[in-house]
Amino acid sequence: MPDRAQQPVDRQLPTDEARDLISLARDIAQREIAPRAAEEEDAGIFPREVFTLLSRSGLLGLPYDSEYGGGEQPYEVYLQVLEELAAARLTVGLGVSVHSLSCHALANYGTKQQQVEHLPAMLGGGLLGAYCLSEPASGSDAASLRTKAVRDGEDWVIDGTKAWITHGGIADFYTVMARTGADGARGISAFLVPGDAAGLSGAVPEKKMGMKGSPTAQVHFDGVRVPDERRIGEEGQGFAIALSALDSGRLGIAACAIGLAQAALDEAVAYASGRQQFGRPISDFQGLRFMLADMATQIEAGRALYLAAARLRDAGRPFAKQAAMAKLHCTDTAMKATIDAVQILGGYGYTADFPVERYMREAKVLQIVEGTNQIQRMVIARHLAGPEAHRTG
Ligand SMILES: Cc1cc2nc3c(=O)[nH]c(=O)nc-3n(C[C@H](O)[C@H](O)[C@H](O)COP(=O)(O)OP(=O)(O)OC[C@H]3O[C@@H](n4cnc5c(N)ncnc54)[C@H](O)[C@@H]3O)c2cc1C
Repeated sequence: MPDRAQQPVDRQLPTDEARDLISLARDIAQREIAPRAAEEEDAGIFPREVFTLLSRSGLLGLPYDSEYGGGEQPYEVYLQVLEELAAARLTVGLGVSVHSLSCHALANYGTKQQQVEHLPAMLGGGLLGAYCLSEPASGSDAASLRTKAVRDGEDWVIDGTKAWITHGGIADFYTVMARTGADGARGISAFLVPGDAAGLSGAVPEKKMGMKGSPTAQVHFDGVRVPDERRIGEEGQGFAIALSALDSGRLGIAACAIGLAQAALDEAVAYASGRQQFGRPISDFQGLRFMLADMATQIEAGRALYLAAARLRDAGRPFAKQAAMAKLHCTDTAMKATIDAVQILGGYGYTADFPVERYMREAKVLQIVEGTNQIQRMVIARHLAGPEAHRTG
């Protein structure tokens, strides 16, 4: 049976260094991540040591400045590394994407002093981050969040509950959006909170449909005190910072989705080539050949879409509309491709003996996180017909 090692994705990469990074990611994926994925996902085990290895290998801070321990790679390279990791195990690919998201605020809006003090440990020092925007009563309408930060002398005191936090309860640092002013988007500020802060606690992780190895939990802030030095950006700038992080983060989700879809396609092709019915491989039947052809076409289209958005970002041009399109298309593709992969494997596809049933359960979450696909359509439409159409072209 062909496996991913024999049929690597044919990638267009800008440099030799980028090619080496992809090889390194594939090597770690095949040696350290894929072999344990099924068993650990089944048992709900988070592979913390894999993230330490990725950090040591320079893969946990790829899109950030080398001055602070990042890899200084173009986004198009970082995303293709993510794709390779997600193809081996979504918990790892998505975890790296969320970690990157949680570094975005400090790396882009922090003061020089804050960056010098905190970024090296976050980007290459083995720490793992979490991004805290959602709350039990505010998801898509994130600007209605209620977690409060109140000024007390030189400190801020944070109270409230964040919901659905990837790495909640196990993260070393939390980038937290909290209300410091009036209702609405302009009353929100961003804070960098250490994972061991007094009063911060993670709840029991949610029991999820998939990605059971990735802890998703509420995080409680009960009088958590942080110095003003840990406020990122201006007071009231937190929501703009959160949205800017999400524009980039959505591309990470898109890349993870294509990795997952590619893994499903590889499984389906391998199975269809080996399984005989009516005296011939089922891959001979046009009904299945067309399914495989459609899957491959949608995956290539998704990869091209997220890379086009990444290249706009790398060129310093607006990319929010394209990022929303990439997130929408790639995650819908992952859902469809994983459902079709189960169909191609027939009854075996419906069992845990093959990974495609897990892929199908995992794909669903990608249509929900970092803005549901309904919200992506709202963002795209706003760029086409709303006030932003004139600002971003
Ligand atoms: C596994 C997992 C990990 C996550 N990780 C994180 C994390 O690390 N950090 C974090 O902050 N959050 C995280 N989230 C939260 C995620 O971003 C939210 O679940 C998502 O934004 C949707 O919010 P909600 O679940 O409250 O749904 P709701 O906002 O209540 O939406 C419910 C339904 O209504 C639809 N809807 C809402 N408003 C509109 C509208 N205006 N037009 C059309 N349809 C609409 C939605 O599309 C959805 O179908 C995670 C979620 C999951 C499941």
